[in-house]
Amino acid sequence: MSTISSSPTPDELWHAALGDLELTVTAATYDTWLKPTHALGFDGDLLLIGTPNTYGKDWIENRLGADVRRAISRSACRPMDFRVEVITSSPNGAGDAGRMGARGAGNGSAPRPSPTGAPALTIERAELNAKCTFTNFIVGDSNRLAYAAASAVAESPATRFNPLFIYGGVGLGKTHLLQAIGHHLASRRYRVRYVTTETFTNDLVGAIRSQTQEDFRNRYRHVDVLLLDDIQFLIGKEMTQEEVFHTFNAMHAANRQIVISCDRRPQALMPLEARLRSRFEAGLIVDIQPPDLEMRIAILKSTAEARHLAVSDDVLQLIAHRVQSNIRELEGALVQVVGRTQLTHESLTVPVAQRILDADVARTAPSLDAILQAVTAYFRVSTEELLSAKRSQRIVVPRQVAMYLMRDDGRASLPQIGLALRRDHTTVLHGIERITQLQETNEVLRKDIISIRQRLFHP
Ligand code: ADP
Ligand code: MG
Repeated sequence: MSTISSSPTPDELWHAALGDLELTVTAATYDTWLKPTHALGFDGDLLLIGTPNTYGKDWIENRLGADVRRAISRSACRPMDFRVEVITSSPNGAGDAGRMGARGAGNGSAPRPSPTGAPALTIERAELNAKCTFTNFIVGDSNRLAYAAASAVAESPATRFNPLFIYGGVGLGKTHLLQAIGHHLASRRYRVRYVTTETFTNDLVGAIRSQTQEDFRNRYRHVDVLLLDDIQFLIGKEMTQEEVFHTFNAMHAANRQIVISCDRRPQALMPLEARLRSRFEAGLIVDIQPPDLEMRIAILKSTAEARHLAVSDDVLQLIAHRVQSNIRELEGALVQVVGRTQLTHESLTVPVAQRILDADVARTAPSLDAILQAVTAYFRVSTEELLSAKRSQRIVVPRQVAMYLMRDDGRASLPQIGLALRRDHTTVLHGIERITQLQETNEVLRKDIISIRQRLFHP
């Protein structure tokens, strides 16, 4: 690496600062916002930085401002500020040029242009879980209204309830209902797009990075029905909020249906832009409550039937009494109990089930403190760092692994984990989901987690 002389050129300075930033921000942030930049020169005491679009300017100035200032000051060995300018004409290589050409061509007035080059009538069923249909949805007092609203939307989209906003706690059937609407309308050849807010955000970031925002918009706006899941993840993501707002307006103006799910009512989405919140509030808002005993039994029966599990009513009753929080855990407990007895060739009686459920709680549940210890020791980070606001990958991954293990092995609730790690429960949920997903594809991470568990359970 070149050393910085006492008066570095703008290029040298920015290059050194980028090296610094690469270590302090997440890889995604770096690749998206910082990598495409270059130094333009000095303006008096300011370093001028060029970026290809206004999103980048906003992001660097507002989100990364402090980091960037620190990095250039450190590189310049004196306090230094910067300004970002949008350099629109910078050619970005043949790949991008090709894409832009294609985009230009697709921009004509052809009816309902193909969103991504795929046939215009593609039905995105691959994104839907086959199990999540209306037929498989058990209706009880706790979800009757949500079910009725979802059915009404599925029967005649974009007429009465637009947007439809479904909210409720984790594992209570929000995704199931969104997807049921999707299945129903897709089978009637509506163009349906189901997307989690997280995927939407990632897609948006990707589109900005590759300068294909137009494709992105076509993809999300040129459908008849947009099902946007877990909208609470918009909190703190101004840029995505902005895009959702415009998507929303475009869809509404074109008389297309939007269905949204969220873990809380719109009024409680406080840090969200008011104009976006008021859009949500303009539609029909329905909630799903935790299921009562009767419904929990009904759900267990239907799950047992669907999976061809022979389980007596007594045992189903027992599970329904023991597991009250949500439907996902209810199904999980049933599968556990059946799975264990199949392994041990025991018959599934109430005492056996009781024992398994008890052991399940006692088996594990290491304290949150023990988990924190194991994770920090394994990843060689300090507890202070883990609890700090730092967002470098070196810290974020261990932090999210801690969330995941606290939930999975520590049996802690989201608020409990949040308290232990000084995060709000949405962040915790996000962390858990991220690690759950990452494990599928990332073998290294999977092995890390196994190693930590070995430390936890066989110290
Ligand atoms: P959420 O999105 O609210 O967190 P999900 O829709 O993922 O919850 O539901 C969790 C699990 O419970 C899924 O397997 C879903 O199919 C099942 N489920 C939820 N509600 C019902 C219901 N009323 N009837 C049958 N299964 C349900
Ligand atoms: Mg869900």
